[in-house]
Amino acid sequence: MLDDGTRVESRSTIDAMSTQKSTQNSTHTQSELYRALPNMDDMLDDARVVQASHTYGRTVVLDMLRARLDEVRSAITLGTVTTTVDAPKLIDTALATLALREMSTLRRVINATGIVVHTNLGRSVLADEALEAVAEVAGGYSTLEYNVEAGERGSRHDHIERLLCELTGAEAGIAVNNNAAAVLLALTCFAKGKEVVVSRGQLVEIGGSFRIPDICAQSGARMVEVGTTNKTHVADYGKAFGSKTGLILKVHTSNFDIVGFAETPTTFELAQLGAQYDVPLLEDQGSGVLIDLKPFGLPYEPTVTEALFSGASLVTFSGDKLLGGPQAGLIVGSRWAIDTLKQHPLVRALRLDKMTIAALEATLKLYRDHDLARARIPTLRMLTMRIEESRERAEMLRGMLESALGDRLTCEVVEDVAYAGGGSLPMADLPSFVVRVRAAKLSARELEERLRDGDTTGPATAPQNPATPPIVARVRDGYVLLDPRTFVRDDAEIVVETLSRIVA
Ligand SMILES: *Cc1c(COP(=O)(O)O)cnc(C)c1O
Repeated sequence: MLDDGTRVESRSTIDAMSTQKSTQNSTHTQSELYRALPNMDDMLDDARVVQASHTYGRTVVLDMLRARLDEVRSAITLGTVTTTVDAPKLIDTALATLALREMSTLRRVINATGIVVHTNLGRSVLADEALEAVAEVAGGYSTLEYNVEAGERGSRHDHIERLLCELTGAEAGIAVNNNAAAVLLALTCFAKGKEVVVSRGQLVEIGGSFRIPDICAQSGARMVEVGTTNKTHVADYGKAFGSKTGLILKVHTSNFDIVGFAETPTTFELAQLGAQYDVPLLEDQGSGVLIDLKPFGLPYEPTVTEALFSGASLVTFSGDKLLGGPQAGLIVGSRWAIDTLKQHPLVRALRLDKMTIAALEATLKLYRDHDLARARIPTLRMLTMRIEESRERAEMLRGMLESALGDRLTCEVVEDVAYAGGGSLPMADLPSFVVRVRAAKLSARELEERLRDGDTTGPATAPQNPATPPIVARVRDGYVLLDPRTFVRDDAEIVVETLSRIVA
């Protein structure tokens, strides 16, 4: 049974065939057309079909050829195909359709937006060290839960915990599936059937599906809101405390900032208050930074270590936002609090797999040396890129475009802004140089769409030549903006090639 995509594709096949009707100007009787249809055995002997059978499996290729034959037969019956369809033609369309259909839905794209932590595009690009660690561990057996020295069972949590403690100064730590899971776990463990006190200014929604009130409800904790949207005082928290209080929750308002007449207690003040009443403080830092990014022109953000130092019992943060690692939720804090978390049955449901642990361990190791971290972790490198480097990259891209395309494309380097993205550093505009381009015969919208299509014109749909990656760019004031800050590997070359094809 064919999916919808295949059927859509087949219509264009038949269209392509019917256009030949007018050019060839010869008509055949239906029986002639049926008789001229290629023989399946012959097609199966075709070198390209043999090759495709190795790639996709024989049954898949056979089914596709059959489906094509059936469609041509129906088209002949309907009279929409009036010229002969030979084996090479049928094989062409069958293999092209197959290549499209078999292309992974999760695939590489080129991020030309300048938005560094782009949640829709997969957030952080991993460091080479992390990629190598994943390949090493995933391609064989590993010490995931095995203590080699003792020859006995070990814990998968140990790999990350030591590093987390070393890097943040925490007594203990644990990593789970993502930060949403980390918050859910902590709330469930410490406030289920109890009350969690949270400021009205921090009842945030992050990325549509993570809302503080919903997470509280899911955990079985009753949320007690205190203060107002713009101002919450320490005393507001104090007044809400009672015998049922299980936790104070402080949430980083990651994707917005309340400016002006606004106030919210510090971690230190809340931790002090909590200590008086013996109520632990959970701080959801969202992005969470391990190094101070202020020297690189980014706004001040309290680091994970500072939150711990200020007295938070637990701090949670994401693995794939500013940290630049794989998707994960990291929790650090007091030994007793982490040990309590580790006993909770949810930990089993939220645990990390070996590939993520490998990538996370490798990423965290780079943080032992902050210069190394900045040089090796793509997210940090892009965020802290000097303005001169941003300009050089843009100039380089412009030069490549000009020598490849000449005056078929207008391109110039202009100053613009890039963003941290991903609900990180909401107020941080990163000054950035971009190349803005305009094609003579295409509107900016059309050009942006064609870039996003990757390649729809060339022979890229042939099985051996997977389509080039889609390029995601911004449009403004009649121009397409390309920010090479977020390019990796050979992205610039691909962008130039793709643009060449589009405006050819
Ligand atoms: C991003 C964010 C989350 C969710 O983190 P994920 O790792 O995406 O699950 C939770 N809280 C805050 C404050 C955030 O910024």
